[in-house]
Amino acid sequence: MGVKVTKFGGSSLADAGMIMKVKAIVEADATRRYVVPSAPGKRNKADQKITDLLYLCHAHATQGVPFDDVFAIIAERYKQIVADLGVDLDMTPLLDEVKTKIAGGASADYAASRGEALNGPIVAAALGYDFVDAAEVVRFDERGRFDADATQAAMSDRLGRHERAVVPGFYGATPDGTIKTFSRGGSDVTGALVARGVGAEVYENWTDVSGMLMADPRVVDNPRPIKVVTYKELRELAYMGATVLHDEAIFPVRGAGIPVNIRNTNEPDNPGTMIVPSNGAGEYAHGVITGIAGRKDFTVIAIEKALMNAQLGFGRRVLEVLEANGVSFEHMPTGIDTLSVVVADAQLDGKIDTLIDELTSAVKPDAIDVSPNMALLATVGRGMAHTPGMSAKLFGALGDAGVNVRMIDQGSSELNIIVGVEADDFETAMRAIYNRFVCE
Ligand code: ASP
Repeated sequence: MGVKVTKFGGSSLADAGMIMKVKAIVEADATRRYVVPSAPGKRNKADQKITDLLYLCHAHATQGVPFDDVFAIIAERYKQIVADLGVDLDMTPLLDEVKTKIAGGASADYAASRGEALNGPIVAAALGYDFVDAAEVVRFDERGRFDADATQAAMSDRLGRHERAVVPGFYGATPDGTIKTFSRGGSDVTGALVARGVGAEVYENWTDVSGMLMADPRVVDNPRPIKVVTYKELRELAYMGATVLHDEAIFPVRGAGIPVNIRNTNEPDNPGTMIVPSNGAGEYAHGVITGIAGRKDFTVIAIEKALMNAQLGFGRRVLEVLEANGVSFEHMPTGIDTLSVVVADAQLDGKIDTLIDELTSAVKPDAIDVSPNMALLATVGRGMAHTPGMSAKLFGALGDAGVNVRMIDQGSSELNIIVGVEADDFETAMRAIYNRFVCE
């Protein structure tokens, strides 16, 4: 019988009532043997996340400002959860130790990691599972870089000795025991590492939404859910802003071919979204798209020069200027005498004048034109490959909606078509594509 690894996000563990839902989910399937909890998250919109409060305590401590009040909120949250669950755990000594260490100058990573480190034993007690400290199984090297091989070895060795265990998310340790965290939302990564470590049949990632939707619900009314998406499609959609999983969480499971199932703790009967290897996606209809995602805030720098195509090294010189200024680009559409680079605005921050000056002296263009306010939209789908007429349908939809397409980029995998439109047309464009492909 296969093993399932279940990761629960902060909102799924925000109070004792939620932890009871988690317990019911875990107990409903005997193969859910390894559980990775986040720190308690928000109980409602106005609430605070424990992780944020811990960072706040650390910031106070660094400035020499008392943080007793903030810590008291944290302590109260945990004690309340333990009391409401009725588990036999004395949180006081654990909380005291954390407070003393933060006051004594412990690192931000240590402080933040305690959200999960304190929640782990509570969830383990509620489930009757063993507790395995992530510091023992998620390994970083002496220089603080994540060590995939050491982690895999530690996971399979240590977890092989526990039939059922809770491993807190978000952190690990270096060989000398220094605590390191992943970036925010990193419990997803821990879940993926545990899944790979135990060779799970599936990595279930339980959150507060029933999986991914085919388009942004703030733009399209009631978009349909995505039932199956491949790792590759997910990368395309996530890059364009459809975030459902920490970016780095996909790699450990993808390497091992373990599917990820995004599920909703508040709607456990909903099958959610399955993220699978390309060859595991099963049959799908040609011409069908998987999803649409997009982002605003891009700038196009268009460089024009007669006979550019015959000039050796033109593109290299343009890219060297970008590199020297620490600017990475997203796309580079070219024409016979034009070359454009599409750059995220966040990359440009105060650098545009320098870039123009340096590009001018590097390639002596006939003209350089900067157009801000561009949005990019990616229409993604494994069903688009080898299907004639997909771009015609897409551009027809945009044309009929009166949207002017400023840039086109189709990956040679035929997995996606990216279009650049004026930021003001973003919503109209997304609705037009969705309606044409999904509703008609
Ligand atoms: N608690 C951490 C955060 O808020 C990690 C996580 O929840 O995944 O970022």
